[in-house]
Amino acid sequence: MFVDTHCHINMLVKKEFDVPLQKNFALATSEIIQQAERNHVTRIINVGTSVIESENCIKIAQQFKHVWATIGTHPNDLTTSWMDDIKTYKKWLKEKELHQIVGIGEIGLDYHYPDFHKQRQYDALRAQIELALEFDVAIVIHTRDAGTEVLEILDEYKHDHPRGIIHCFSETDLFANKALELGFVLGIGGTLTYPKNNTLREIFSLVPLEKIVLETDAPFLPPQALRGKQNVPANIAIIAQALADLRGISVEEVGRTTTQTALELFRIE
Ligand SMILES: [Zn+2]
Repeated sequence: MFVDTHCHINMLVKKEFDVPLQKNFALATSEIIQQAERNHVTRIINVGTSVIESENCIKIAQQFKHVWATIGTHPNDLTTSWMDDIKTYKKWLKEKELHQIVGIGEIGLDYHYPDFHKQRQYDALRAQIELALEFDVAIVIHTRDAGTEVLEILDEYKHDHPRGIIHCFSETDLFANKALELGFVLGIGGTLTYPKNNTLREIFSLVPLEKIVLETDAPFLPPQALRGKQNVPANIAIIAQALADLRGISVEEVGRTTTQTALELFRIE
């Protein structure tokens, strides 16, 4: 059995981003979940990126038993009114069980696109880490071209013992060691199967298995054999097999250990 610790079913079931789910979302959603279950992906964490998408994640999690939500504003989705986002998240977190919220994310730093606002990204990341600490939920970190700064900010909170995932890990082995030291685990998905990613494979052959969780990031980043197609949570099975082959262990062991880590991290059953 596997957990997809990071996907966006809310984006798979509609064509546009940052709009509410349509009324008929449940049908398409249940097809995706059933396909996942046929591939032994029995639990799914659906990850928010903005207030609207986080609300969509909550709606899906409330309707489907083995799906949970994380809420948060992605660094590329921050606006001048990001502080209002935080107020909304806080309101939802006060009833986190009712809303099926198990984490804050995805949050982080992203310097990839030219017009990013550095200070706003720092402030929003800190505020959202503090939310996770206040409400005792996991953190899902996104980082792109900003590894050093992300580690610096996480380090500021080390005495508060945050727990979380470095999502779609694509950093160095030094970053990996530091992140583990800070209590984080590493999320790996389809990128493990991309031909150019030898360094990534080397890191994931060495990191302790109990510090790894599986994720698809669906609809993004499909495994190599399915590139060009929309990614889906069912593809966790392919990623698990790739990790098992890389480490010379059984796919059952990968499933057992990564599932245990994910359940503990998100405090789900
Ligand atoms: Zn994502």
